[in-house]
Amino acid sequence: FKARWWALNKVKSVCSYCGTGCQLTLGVKDDKVLTTIYDENQGFHNGQLCTRGRFGYQFINSDKRLTTPLVRKNGSLQPATWDEALGLVAAKLAEEKNAGGKTVAGLATPRLTNEELFLFKKLFRDGLGSDNVDHSAGYAHAALTAGAAESFGGTASPATVADIQASNLLLVVKTDAYETHPVLGFEINLGVKRKDIDLRVLSDKRGKLSKLPKAVTYVHKPGQEVALVNALAQVILAENLQDATASGIDGFDALKQQLDAFAPEKVAAACGLDADTIKTLARDYAKAAKALIILPLGLGYPGHGKALAQALANLALLTGKVGKEGCGVLYLGEKNNSQGAADLGLFPTAGGADADAILAGCQNGSIKTLIVAGENPVVSYPDRKKIEAALDKVEFLVVQDLFLTETAAKAHVVLPVCSFAEKNGTYTSVGRAVQRVNQAIKPVGDARSDFAILNGLLAGLTGNAPYADTTAVFAEIAATVPAYAGLTMAGLGETGAILPATIKPRFVAVEAAAIPAESGKFALVTGSALYHCGTMSRFGEGPMYVCPEGYVELCRDDAQALNVKEGEAVVVKSAAGELKLKVKVGARMPQGVVFAPYHFGEASVNSIAVGAPVTWVSISK
Ligand code: SF4
Repeated sequence: FKARWWALNKVKSVCSYCGTGCQLTLGVKDDKVLTTIYDENQGFHNGQLCTRGRFGYQFINSDKRLTTPLVRKNGSLQPATWDEALGLVAAKLAEEKNAGGKTVAGLATPRLTNEELFLFKKLFRDGLGSDNVDHSAGYAHAALTAGAAESFGGTASPATVADIQASNLLLVVKTDAYETHPVLGFEINLGVKRKDIDLRVLSDKRGKLSKLPKAVTYVHKPGQEVALVNALAQVILAENLQDATASGIDGFDALKQQLDAFAPEKVAAACGLDADTIKTLARDYAKAAKALIILPLGLGYPGHGKALAQALANLALLTGKVGKEGCGVLYLGEKNNSQGAADLGLFPTAGGADADAILAGCQNGSIKTLIVAGENPVVSYPDRKKIEAALDKVEFLVVQDLFLTETAAKAHVVLPVCSFAEKNGTYTSVGRAVQRVNQAIKPVGDARSDFAILNGLLAGLTGNAPYADTTAVFAEIAATVPAYAGLTMAGLGETGAILPATIKPRFVAVEAAAIPAESGKFALVTGSALYHCGTMSRFGEGPMYVCPEGYVELCRDDAQALNVKEGEAVVVKSAAGELKLKVKVGARMPQGVVFAPYHFGEASVNSIAVGAPVTWVSISK
């Protein structure tokens, strides 16, 4: 960057990529973010940042940012004034309110601040009388938190980041924390190398964590996670390894009875692991003095997130490894404020439509107006064709975003919004840390914060005065959301505050879906690729240098059998369609399983990944 260190204005804030919640310092000059600065006194991570946090900030001042509202006229989006654009939105929302609020819906990204998410929900609940509101489609973190809420009585993880280093054994389930939440990957690395913590990885492919010393990786067949975790619980009961408290927890008898069907001998073949291996893993987990389960999860994992969250909760509850230092379950929401979105109830709570139902409603005409704040369903939700058809059909689509995303391009009104560097507020991390986001630069172009947009629309619909600022909304959150009681914006200071854990434990017996293999086909696994998830990082230099385009990854034997080489193009075909992707050959994938990242709009694997939890594909040159 072109500036002397001392010439930079330094503003402390929080990374807006993943849910780890790393604090960072933005280096600013002439109202541009020129760098992020390493500050070893900052945050639980001592200033460490991953590629996204350290080198992915260029999206803030990207020349591709939307700088003015757009309104669709004669079929194309044309620049408009804020008065014109907001006038159209306000008029439509007033119509929807008068019609009873049943035909309006909203999808908001968990990238927004807590205050913005609170206003979004309030706009629908109080402004429009509608409960049709959701985020990230319940495809990932929402499913996880729903599972956590039933098993532990609260939406947040019963563990914090500090429990990683305090544990004796880490059981990382599914994929690689290095990819989804890299700084947590560093924390695991530190714990394993410096504190000799045991590491067990349970996944459908190998990752960087598997390379750590002492890491034992159990590669199972895709989609078999729930069956496998149930089998671990069965072993714990069969070998009397459970904690004395377990039988006193609600649901114990029903769980015990149901787990009979998951004896390792019965599920081993389907899971792709032998029974003795499953038993060894169960014993290691149960006998560790302190063990922490970590479940990194992104949108690329549809199907049984809730069941998996509950099966893992059962495991922790059975062994008494909850509510103690170094123990518990750390559910890793994908986005920077996934936890805040769950805490603030950004999903239907009184019978409204969830994201799936909202999109189905757009398709069948029962939803006429849709507001999308920061989500890009066309690319990041499963089954792209279905999503596109729904968004093409809805009568009035409003999109608030930084960029003209594939979803925004379909809108009737596009509102340009501020990035995290242009606004104030709070995010809540996966480790339950509520931290302050601080404005570092003026809004880019004519962009406005989602807060300002939602605040104005809400005031217009209710007739109430708008909130004075984000502090006023945070005060209302603290007064109405029990977990946030007692917090104040000023009290958060530079370090933030950790929310209390709520634990009202209950065993929930969960079934595992049968997944019949399709002969001659590959199981397609989707997810985040090296350090990024698309929405902002496609406009960040660091992440795009590391992973510039979509690909399909397969093992050497499969590549050889298909007669394809690294970099060659292949056609990947599922029941839903086909896609041309470049081949990446590596040692991570087991035979018969292929991986593709989902965040490249032009090579969107979600257009063909429609099976849950496994999509079967054929591959040809
Ligand atoms: Fe940002 Fe997540 Fe990387 Fe931390 S781990 S720097 S929060 S992307």
